[in-house]
Amino acid sequence: MREVFTFIRDSPPLNSVKTTVNIMKVVVTAKVKLTDCSDVLDDTIGIYAQAVQFCVDTAWQHKIRYKAPLHRLCYYDVKARFGLQAQLVINAITQAVEMVKKARSKPQVSQELSIRYNFPRCASITKDWTVLSLATLKGRVKFQITIPQVFEHYLEWKLGESTLIKDYKGRFFFCFTFSKKVAIQPRSYHDCKILGVDLGVNTLAVTSEADFFGSVKQQRVRWEHLVAELQSKGTRAANRKLQQASGAWKRFMTWVNHNVSKRIVATLSEGDVLVMEDLTYIRQTAKYNRWVHKWAFRELQQFLEYKATLKGVRVVYIRPHYTSKECNRCQSRNTSRHRGFFECHSCGHTLNSDLNGARNIARRYRRITGLGCCKHAHDLAYDEVETLLVRGLIPSTAKSLTA
Ligand SMILES: [Zn+2]
Repeated sequence: MREVFTFIRDSPPLNSVKTTVNIMKVVVTAKVKLTDCSDVLDDTIGIYAQAVQFCVDTAWQHKIRYKAPLHRLCYYDVKARFGLQAQLVINAITQAVEMVKKARSKPQVSQELSIRYNFPRCASITKDWTVLSLATLKGRVKFQITIPQVFEHYLEWKLGESTLIKDYKGRFFFCFTFSKKVAIQPRSYHDCKILGVDLGVNTLAVTSEADFFGSVKQQRVRWEHLVAELQSKGTRAANRKLQQASGAWKRFMTWVNHNVSKRIVATLSEGDVLVMEDLTYIRQTAKYNRWVHKWAFRELQQFLEYKATLKGVRVVYIRPHYTSKECNRCQSRNTSRHRGFFECHSCGHTLNSDLNGARNIARRYRRITGLGCCKHAHDLAYDEVETLLVRGLIPSTAKSLTA
């Protein structure tokens, strides 16, 4: 069983952090295994993939990039040709349009595509969460399911569009998507804690308050050795072992990430602000080039994001440029780093380089809100674009908070 957490970006970016977004939407995915009737699911997933490919081809041929015209053009055709249930046809069209919009050349649909299900149109669940009914090629089919205990507290959340997936071993999983809106009570910037968190390779997270979390260097080095050794062998058995080892490593990192995020969020209280670097800029900064397991950092960020939001802590992202190069005391960039040690050549300040990064992250957010001093005026407008507040819903009554 696995939990996946995503946040939905519903609003356009704001240009000022002084407008308070006080409702955030937290989305949680609960993955539940389906044990019986895999044949009918296998057929349905195959036909659904063919239907999506047909829609992609049609859209590509007629240069259609939007749902409504594609729907008008091929809805009845797809329904007659593939015999899918009405809502599944609509979902296939939506999925095809999304693929076409993103693509530069005509997308090829994989046979292991996931199917989207909407409640109650093409899926339903009994009140006690034990029987799941899904629309398939053979009509509605019922599946006995067991919701793992860890997901039980999500059952009262809002159930949204969910997906059916097939993994490489041919097992079927149903991913329930639950969402909840959390009200974030804003506090004045002067009396809330602003905590910067820097993510790293050897120490997973360092906070601006000099707390160090998750030292996994030994385990990581051992794992990388094992991967290198198995890859050099290149035999079938080595490949199988590699697959098992990556599964074990992923589970270990997820466990560590849950722990680290829980401990960091425990140091915060409602109304505080958690500041992190926006990893979408990951490729542009040399610091991250050597990051081997980017997925693990994204996962840690997601865990931090949803745990903090549920506690009423605002989560904000800043651009990562120069956060590790700048001196957090005098903001000079005439600095050097050596073996995790940071040294400023302008003011002589020395400290752990990850801690310097975390303090810069917190300071940059303070500077955007007008609390910190600013030595490089040219940076200011530049930072503001990436406020963390862009994630979430803006209520129509959003009030502006004067710091
Ligand atoms: Zn300095």
